[in-house]
Amino acid sequence: MEPKYKRIILKLSGEALAGEKGFGLDEKTLDAIAKQVKEISGLGVEVSIVVGGGNFWRGRSSEGMDRTTADYMGMLATVINALALQDALESIDISTRVQTAIEMRQIAEPYIRRKAVRHLGKGRVVIFAAGTGNPYFSTDTTAALRAAEIEAEVILLAKKVDGVYDSDPKINPDANKFDELTYIDILSKGLGVMDSTASSLCMDNKIPIIVFGLNEPENIKKVILGEKIGTLVKE
Ligand code: UDP
Repeated sequence: MEPKYKRIILKLSGEALAGEKGFGLDEKTLDAIAKQVKEISGLGVEVSIVVGGGNFWRGRSSEGMDRTTADYMGMLATVINALALQDALESIDISTRVQTAIEMRQIAEPYIRRKAVRHLGKGRVVIFAAGTGNPYFSTDTTAALRAAEIEAEVILLAKKVDGVYDSDPKINPDANKFDELTYIDILSKGLGVMDSTASSLCMDNKIPIIVFGLNEPENIKKVILGEKIGTLVKE
């Protein structure tokens, strides 16, 4: 089984780590994801992961709070998720490094692009935490930024929903799933796949995105092997 990609960014939203609980962390879900990461890493794929934090906190949904403070809280939430993921991976003997965009040296390495690439070359899984380190951004934008920086071939955007639909499939049972879309479609139709900053960054740097569901964790491997699931977003 030949993997289709050599170097990828896997974006895991905070929600994807919460499993059925919808909040916090679900150990079974973490273990299932870790097993998939182990499999694809075993195929020789260089895997880096960007984690979200929405299972704990999202800056934009904090009402009365100062936005910058709320966003820093969100970035800290991603660090909790990164450590949980690191623990799940290392418990099945995958060597990992967490790199944070805001320095917290007792906990993890600071983000250094060259170091990250070197870890990947040695077969380590690198988890990027604390987003971009800046308020008013998202971890989807972080995935786009890191993908451009480390020259990842694709972003695997793992979601709760199994692709991009023309309307919310949870509300509208007749919603249609797209197999393929362009970045412009995402921006002009205002499809809620990722925010416009993240979409523009992917468009400008020609980074394809595959949006798929983590309802079955094996989907990560399927995408890596080139199976057409979810929605492909490209030029
Ligand atoms: N965040 C931020 N800057 C970044 C990345 C994240 O301020 O570069 C904050 C922001 O408040 C965001 C929260 O961290 O709401 C959690 O990230 P996100 O909402 O992207 O997580 P996800 O929805 O993927 O779980």
